[in-house]
Amino acid sequence: MSIEVLESVPTGLLIGGEWRPGSGATIAVENPATQATLAQIADGTPEDMAAALDAAVAAQDSWAATAPRERGEILRRAFDEVTRRSEEFALLITLEMGKPLAESRGEVRYGAEFLRWFSEEAVRVAGSWQTSPEGTTRLLTMKAPVGPTFMVTPWNFPLAMATRKVAPAVAAGCTMVLKPSELTPLTSLLFAEVLRASGLPDGVLNVVNTSDAPSASARILSDPRLRKLTFTGSTAVGQHLIKAASEQVLRVSMELGGNAPVIVFGDADLDRAVQGLLDAKMRNGGQACTAANRVLVHESVADVFAKRVAEAMGSLRVGPGTEPTSQVGPVIDHRALDKLGRLVEESAGRGSSVLTGGQALPGPGYFFAPTVLRLAEGSEQSDEELFGPVAPVETFATEDEAVTKANATRYGLASYLFSTDLGRVLRVAERLEFGMIGVNQGIISNAAAPFGGVKQSGFGREGGREGIDEYLETKYVGIAP
Ligand code: NAD
Repeated sequence: MSIEVLESVPTGLLIGGEWRPGSGATIAVENPATQATLAQIADGTPEDMAAALDAAVAAQDSWAATAPRERGEILRRAFDEVTRRSEEFALLITLEMGKPLAESRGEVRYGAEFLRWFSEEAVRVAGSWQTSPEGTTRLLTMKAPVGPTFMVTPWNFPLAMATRKVAPAVAAGCTMVLKPSELTPLTSLLFAEVLRASGLPDGVLNVVNTSDAPSASARILSDPRLRKLTFTGSTAVGQHLIKAASEQVLRVSMELGGNAPVIVFGDADLDRAVQGLLDAKMRNGGQACTAANRVLVHESVADVFAKRVAEAMGSLRVGPGTEPTSQVGPVIDHRALDKLGRLVEESAGRGSSVLTGGQALPGPGYFFAPTVLRLAEGSEQSDEELFGPVAPVETFATEDEAVTKANATRYGLASYLFSTDLGRVLRVAERLEFGMIGVNQGIISNAAAPFGGVKQSGFGREGGREGIDEYLETKYVGIAP
């Protein structure tokens, strides 16, 4: 099966509905569990990026004029096809990204759901009609697609990060150039082929992989025909792209890094809190922007909670994602492995105790032991994304202190709180400076919900009713009756 699935993945550049070989240079795609090369794919140049934009621009007008029902039906057919081929997609995700197969199947369900959700939203785009307050004019608003959009995605959810952008753009009538992460491009390539086979017209979706993202991005972002940039990835790269996008005053959506707190109050149901933390921490091996990065526990339950979490994390089976027994896969590359080792060492240097794990595991592959740290009294955790299976536990004494500590970060993406007191849940949810708050659960992503952050976690929302707005302009027409 593993060889078969690789054979069905196109390896070229998708430009104007054709798979092109590119200039001859290739990017090797590595399996992080074995360090073996899975495939060689075409390495796009800035000129390829410009050709992809030519194709997107050429397709824009007729695509915008296509009936919303037809756009929706293309998405629905793609949903059916991704679902029918879910085992292939899941295996591909595991091979190039590393997560265990069971989690990859979860990503396929989640990722496909954006295709279904936006197939339904495509026919619900509407404007408004109003009489002006003084009664002298009529105010008509109509929605129009933003236009050709450049999409940049990360490696950690190779299917879902693409469908979360592509599906609303298709529904709204925008054409696109997608640049997947060079670390996990194969899933996006197969997804693009599925969309093409589902009837997406030539040029609506173009895909260019490249080993030189800065040059390729600079080329497309400086082209005045581009209308929008949507980016998911690290805050540092996002900041750079926001600046670059200002040159053409592009519409911009940014889904950036996170530093999610998990707050466990003294009145929490501890069974749920332990499970919720495991979900929030260990999904994707901790390599999620929504991953628990700090665990704040009320001092009355901190000892028992930390002990239970350490037992649960310590018993997780680590191994290649293709092994059915593996519960935690490798991290993405040696840089991620080195960073985790450094952060754990620095924390221990500040007096933290290691309750379980604490180090990299023998290779091949980039494996790190699930780790629980108990921070020393008064020690500060750095405002850095761990992006791996490490859970630092610290304590608080009052509700105020919990909120202050939770908000003490430049990020504002996901947060979680565990409490059985409804008043407290509402009070704390109102004060948390995060775009998303999970209450008594550790998984909050849902295609029907608006996903996104505040502060340096970005702006704009993906999914939910809001998701399609990112790809629509509002036009106002004033009419004298
Ligand atoms: P990254 O920022 O290194 O890369 C993201 C993408 O940007 C990749 O496709 C990469 O090739 C491209 N890129 C890198 N430098 C570029 C440049 N100069 N110009 C243009 N493109 C460039 O991030 P990553 O390591 O792939 O992903 C992990 C990060 O993504 C984490 O910070 C995580 O929190 C974040 N993330 C956020 C969300 C969200 O929805 N908020 C979701 C998933 C991941």
